[in-house]
Amino acid sequence: MRNTFDVAVIGGGVMGCAILHYLAKLGVTRTVLLERHTLASGSTGRSLAILRMHYSNEVTTRMAWWSRAVIADFQQETGHPGGFVRTEYLFLAGEGQEKALRHNVSLGRSLGVNTEYITPEEAQRRWPKMRFDNVTAVAHEPLSGYADSSAVTSGFAQSARSAGAQVRLGQEATGIAASAGRAIEVEVGGDTIECGAAVIAAGPWNPELLESLGAPLPLTWTRHQIIRVHRPLDLVPDHPSVGDLPGGISFRPDAGDTTLIGARADPVQRDSLKQTPDADAAAEALTSLARRMPEMEEAGWDGGWDGLFTVTPDWHPVLDRVPGFENVYVAAGFSGHGFKLSPAIGRALAELIVHGASTSIDISQLRFTRFAEGKTVESAYGANVFA
Ligand SMILES: Cc1cc2nc3c(=O)[nH]c(=O)nc-3n(C[C@H](O)[C@H](O)[C@H](O)COP(=O)(O)OP(=O)(O)OC[C@H]3O[C@@H](n4cnc5c(N)ncnc54)[C@H](O)[C@@H]3O)c2cc1C
Repeated sequence: MRNTFDVAVIGGGVMGCAILHYLAKLGVTRTVLLERHTLASGSTGRSLAILRMHYSNEVTTRMAWWSRAVIADFQQETGHPGGFVRTEYLFLAGEGQEKALRHNVSLGRSLGVNTEYITPEEAQRRWPKMRFDNVTAVAHEPLSGYADSSAVTSGFAQSARSAGAQVRLGQEATGIAASAGRAIEVEVGGDTIECGAAVIAAGPWNPELLESLGAPLPLTWTRHQIIRVHRPLDLVPDHPSVGDLPGGISFRPDAGDTTLIGARADPVQRDSLKQTPDADAAAEALTSLARRMPEMEEAGWDGGWDGLFTVTPDWHPVLDRVPGFENVYVAAGFSGHGFKLSPAIGRALAELIVHGASTSIDISQLRFTRFAEGKTVESAYGANVFA
């Protein structure tokens, strides 16, 4: 088996696969992706996969907007389906958050995003099954929705594979040896892969790989719970995807009569997920949902799952070279909102590797050293998943 490559990507979540795809688009196909389990077996496969454009800063707004178009027409990009469903998206702000919402809507509009500010009264008129009593302002995105995070991941991987990339499953990278002027060596079991460049995209498991290079990042983990309910179809046939800041939840429709609610971000030890949501979290989430849509009181709880957010201090990712290593790159700390950005992140990292800089978008704000420099990225609603 060939063990010399131009680029090795560690991690088969949506980020690793997107990077592999965009490397192939730039003509770099002597590549290998190492995934210790199966594709999308980390945070990606547990994602709520909502696509929204409502962000506080230019770099993430641009990435979300460009990525939406790619995911909405994923067949065109990769030749494979991405499961995009357009639902519209409403972002609801509470007490004291109207100014922040107006800021994000203006920012989005100035960058070409299809979004509008509407009052709670206007929202009540347009979505009569919803209640907006504790809401001060609403951002409406008619083109937003959700996609299938596993399908997008495997679509990127298949597309890169047909261009010549190798995708190796069940292969855990156990160490990286890199020094100036030499090929990078990635250890996989008893084997060594030699490569010109390596990308660390191992999601919640990035810290040990970074620490082995003596380049730690301040990453922590929180546990997010997804509660699946069946809505009463005669009462609630459909609804938009919603980011409900006063209610402390996000929710979206899924196939058939299913609605998925994302709730909580509790600090957690990384390897202690329970796989299912807690009964008290489900009760709390359903109460919030019913407050927003009273007819959801009739909805029935049908399990769900939990997953990890890998969080940076400012809840924005790190996309950069690893300091001290010319040809080692990292995509880390997506803080619970990375899926919707994955095409733009894949493209930016591929450009950084091939051209020495991300030419399509300025990602310098998301540099590795910003925490040490005290230059964190601002968020209109503070440091949380709605960054
Ligand atoms: C419950 C939940 C809901 C979410 N909802 C949304 C949402 O609505 N919208 C949105 O945009 N984002 C959402 N996100 C966030 C989004 O899913 C993540 O930001 C994104 O999937 C991160 O992808 P990743 O590739 O960085 O990490 P992961 O998907 O975790 O992939 C990392 C991969 O690396 C592999 N790996 C680890 N170590 C090694 C090693 N040493 N060698 C080889 N392989 C290794 C793992 O097995 C894993 O497959 C949500 C996340 C969760 C958990």
